[in-house]
Amino acid sequence: MMTLQQAAELNHGGDYEVVVVGGGPAGVAAAFAAARMGAKTLIVEQFNCLGGVATAGGHGHICLYSAWGSKTRVVGGVPFEMARQVTEAGYGHYNTSQTDFEVEGMKLVLDRMAEECGCHLLYHTFFCDTVVEQGRVVGVVVQNKTGRSVIRAERVVDATGDGDVAARAGCAFEKGNEKGNMQPVTLMFTIGGVDWKRVCEFRSSFGPGAYQLKDVWKKAQENGDMRPYQDQIMGWWWTPTRPDQVGVNFTHVNFVDATRAEDLTRATIEARKQCFETIEVYRKYVPGMEKCYMISTPNTIGIRETRRICGEYTLTRDDVVNHRDFADSIGYGSFFIDIHGTSGPGMDHKTWRPPAGFRYQLPYRICVPRDMDNLLVAGRCVSCDHEALGSIRVMPQCGVLGQAGGVAAVLSLRAGCAPRALDVASLQAELRAQDCILDENDIARANPEV
Ligand SMILES: Cc1cc2nc3c(=O)[nH]c(=O)nc-3n(C[C@H](O)[C@H](O)[C@H](O)COP(=O)(O)OP(=O)(O)OC[C@H]3O[C@@H](n4cnc5c(N)ncnc54)[C@H](O)[C@@H]3O)c2cc1C
Repeated sequence: MMTLQQAAELNHGGDYEVVVVGGGPAGVAAAFAAARMGAKTLIVEQFNCLGGVATAGGHGHICLYSAWGSKTRVVGGVPFEMARQVTEAGYGHYNTSQTDFEVEGMKLVLDRMAEECGCHLLYHTFFCDTVVEQGRVVGVVVQNKTGRSVIRAERVVDATGDGDVAARAGCAFEKGNEKGNMQPVTLMFTIGGVDWKRVCEFRSSFGPGAYQLKDVWKKAQENGDMRPYQDQIMGWWWTPTRPDQVGVNFTHVNFVDATRAEDLTRATIEARKQCFETIEVYRKYVPGMEKCYMISTPNTIGIRETRRICGEYTLTRDDVVNHRDFADSIGYGSFFIDIHGTSGPGMDHKTWRPPAGFRYQLPYRICVPRDMDNLLVAGRCVSCDHEALGSIRVMPQCGVLGQAGGVAAVLSLRAGCAPRALDVASLQAELRAQDCILDENDIARANPEV
C-alpha cells in the first residue's frame, strides 16, 4: 500500500472515474456497465484479452444462466449478452442454461463490446499496488512495458479473481477450507483430431450418469498408464465451430496457493505434464480419440479458489442451500456447490447437488469490503465462505456480481457517498434498467413462456 506522497514519485497513468482491475467475467460486466452509464472507465488486464478463465484460461464453456435443472433463465445483463453476442457472431452456441464457444471468437466479441461502450482498455499491464488515503483507495499502481505508473481513480473495482487490490489495500480476507486447503488448479487444454460422434457413443455405452467415465481412468491407472492425478472427467467441451476439437478440463494440481508465483510455477509445470499424459491415455482408452493431438494450452492455469475478501456480509453455505432471500439482492446464483477435491483427485465430500429449479439471491453487501472505501470487489473474490464459493464462482454469477459492482461504483460516485452507504433501491432500479434479474417478478418477465 502506498501513500499519495509516495505515489507522486511515479509516472502518472491517467485519471478515471472507475478503474476495474481484471478483465474476466466479473471485470467486463463491471466495466461495461459503468462505461454505459457514461463514466470514464478503464480495465487493467495482465493478459492480451478480456474474458479471464473464459479466454486466457482456455475454457469455452459458461454455465449456468438458468435455475438448476430447468430452462428458467435467472441471469440477464452483461453475462447474458456475452452468451448472446458470441452466438450471434457465429462463434458459439447458447441453449438457455449454458453457452459453449470458440475462445478466440469470445476474445473478439469482448473487444468489440468494449469499443462499443467506450470502455478504455490497458492490456499487458499488471496491477501491483494501491494508493490509499484515509481509508479510501484513490489509485492503483501498475507495471507494464512503459514502466511503473499510478492511475488515479474515483472508484476501483477489484475483479482480479484473487482479490489482489483489496489485499494490497489491507482488507481482511480468508482462504480455503477449515484446513486452509483450496480447490485444485487446472490447466485446460485443447485437443484436435477427435471423432466426437464416436466419443459420445462410447460414453453413452456406459449408461446414463456414467458421464465421467470413472471406470476408464481406473483401468488406465491399474495398468500403470496414468498417475492418480484424476479419477473423472471434469468436462469435455466440444463446439460445433471446431468439430474435431475438444477443450479438456481434466488436470488437477492440489495444495497450491495461487496467490504465490512459486506455487503457480510449480503447478503449471506439473499440469502441463498431466496434459500430455492425458492425451496418451485418451488415445489408448477412448474410441474416437485414437488420433487426438495437442493443439494448445492457454495463457494461464485455471484458478478455482484463493482469497475471499471480508465484506459487509458473508454469504454462507446455509444461505445458498436454503436459498435465503435478501432485500439487497443484485441477482441469482443457481449452480451446485461444486468443490473439486481439496486434497486429491475427483470431487470433495462437501459438494452438494440441489433439486431442480434451485436458485438463490446474491446480496450486494458481499461486494463491499468491510475495511476500505472507494473499493468494490466482484467475482470469485467476494465475501463468502468456502462452500458458498463452490457455487457462486461460476462465470454468469461472477458477471452478476461484476455488473452490480460497476453500477454501484458509478451511483455511489454520483451520490457522493461511500459504496456501503449507497441507496440499494437506486442500485436495484439501475440494474433492472440494464436487464438484470433480481427477484421472482424479474424471472417471470424474463421467462414469459414458462
Ligand atoms: C478449470 C476451471 C473450470 C471452470 N469451469 C467453469 C465452467 O464450466 N463454467 C463456468 O461458468 N465457470 C467455470 N469455472 C469458474 C470460472 O471460470 C471462474 O470462477 C470465473 O472466471 C471467475 O471470474 P472472475 O472474473 O472473478 O475471475 P477470472 O476469470 O479469473 O478473471 C480475472 C482476471 O483478472 C486478471 N488479473 C488477475 N490479477 C491481475 C493483476 N494483478 N493485474 C492485472 N490483471 C489481473 C486475470 O488475468 C483475469 O483476466 C471454472 C474455473 C476453472 C479454473
